[in-house]
Amino acid sequence: MQDVKSNRNRVTRREWLKIGGAAGAVALLPACSRSEPEGRAQARRAGPPRQAPRNVILCVSDGMSSAVPSMAEPLAQLAMQRGTAWHKLMSDPKAAHGLLATASLNSMVTDSAAASSAWGSGSRVNNGTLNTLPDGTALTPIAALLQEAGKRVGLVTTDEICGGTPAGFAAQQPSRGDYDRIATQYLGRVDVLMGGGRDAFDPLARKDRRDLLNEFQTEGYAYCHTRGDVLAKPGADRLLGLFQPRKLPYSIDHREDKALRDHVPTLAEMTRAALASLQLGDRGFFLMVEAARVDHAAHHNDIAAMLWDQIAFDDAAAAALAFAADRDDTLVILTSDHGNANPGLNGMGPGYADSTACFERLLGFNASFGRIRDTLRRRADGAGDLVDATRSTISEFTGIDLPRDDAVLVGNAVVHGQFFDTLNRQHHNWNGVLGQVLGNHTGVQFTGVSHTNDHVLLSAAGPGAQDFAGLRHHTDVFPLLTGYAGVQHTNPTAETAAAAV
Ligand SMILES: [Zn+2]
Repeated sequence: MQDVKSNRNRVTRREWLKIGGAAGAVALLPACSRSEPEGRAQARRAGPPRQAPRNVILCVSDGMSSAVPSMAEPLAQLAMQRGTAWHKLMSDPKAAHGLLATASLNSMVTDSAAASSAWGSGSRVNNGTLNTLPDGTALTPIAALLQEAGKRVGLVTTDEICGGTPAGFAAQQPSRGDYDRIATQYLGRVDVLMGGGRDAFDPLARKDRRDLLNEFQTEGYAYCHTRGDVLAKPGADRLLGLFQPRKLPYSIDHREDKALRDHVPTLAEMTRAALASLQLGDRGFFLMVEAARVDHAAHHNDIAAMLWDQIAFDDAAAAALAFAADRDDTLVILTSDHGNANPGLNGMGPGYADSTACFERLLGFNASFGRIRDTLRRRADGAGDLVDATRSTISEFTGIDLPRDDAVLVGNAVVHGQFFDTLNRQHHNWNGVLGQVLGNHTGVQFTGVSHTNDHVLLSAAGPGAQDFAGLRHHTDVFPLLTGYAGVQHTNPTAETAAAAV
């Protein structure tokens, strides 16, 4: 970074852009000094795409650092004797591959709301905001533009449906946390909504007591409350599926719990239902599918939960790719909004010979860290030895026999929130301690417990896929997606809005 700084002092900004390559420099330059996105300029030079896709399916594994697919593949092979769809796509010569730079307006490290707003409006906004510039200027989200152009729009997620990623495509709010208002902005603008977050629609949970469940049904949405409802209503014109008051469960917990499996559909099942509905339109559709809990597991340093949700994401992406395979009008994009905690499998043992055996220990994990924490705290509430309770709980949920010294660290951190200071302060929390201790057995360690600024992986297949090859910024996706739909709309950026005053 020191070299970069000293270079920047000596060269002009124009020269710097040339040296770094425009998109690469975007991630390094301060937000305020960024010029027009390179992808947008390229799109203008190239004119309309040769063959615009009629349908676009954007599959987002939220908070997916670049090593996640390369660990999901061997876990799928070990656990199910089959590979992942993304791994196969990566070796498909017809697919295009690239990277997205992710910096938001006010930080090199974006949050999900700002990343999604960049996709959804083509402008960078501050973290925590949805399609709103710092001076309050409202940006028009892509769902509204596509709807005007006759496209149908769908949002599917394992998060609350009003969470940052889905909301960035269809809502405009100064604060990403205002779920009650975000839910009202979906009404009539988005044709298919499926995920968690029923509370934002429920008159008993909303502050204003408005009954959005009823209002959506009055507007022609088929309401799905359970997995059975989803499977029983294929091809409804409009769908509202809300399966939990808040987030949907981690896949690792969903797999192990029959009641959850009966009640909550998988991301792949929701994706197939959304596609059956959206394809009813005669002008095409845009569908965003989000595996949100990959991000949540990364925040927890919970590698097994993360990889099982990545596999669930991959199953949903496979459903999208299968839909597109029989036709020539559908673009499928697999990517992420930002890295998170950057897990990696380390070389373990002499000559790294133990790495594979360490990784195989993930097969013994059968619960998320949240479930492990709740169980251990409950057990520790009763009389008995904390170290014994910790060792038996960890053994039951991971198959790992913790040494007593490790169990002291984990028990005190998880149950009492007490731990020795850590050199890496990102890990100064119960999940950081649990993740590090278990990482000594699985070989997988994390850089911290928060988002990172890495470029994210992208693969695309179908008409328009080559538009996504190479290095782009999130903001470059918007002009491509609107261009395919024949929409001419440029939202203001922080720079253009300031210049207009
Ligand atoms: Zn996150």
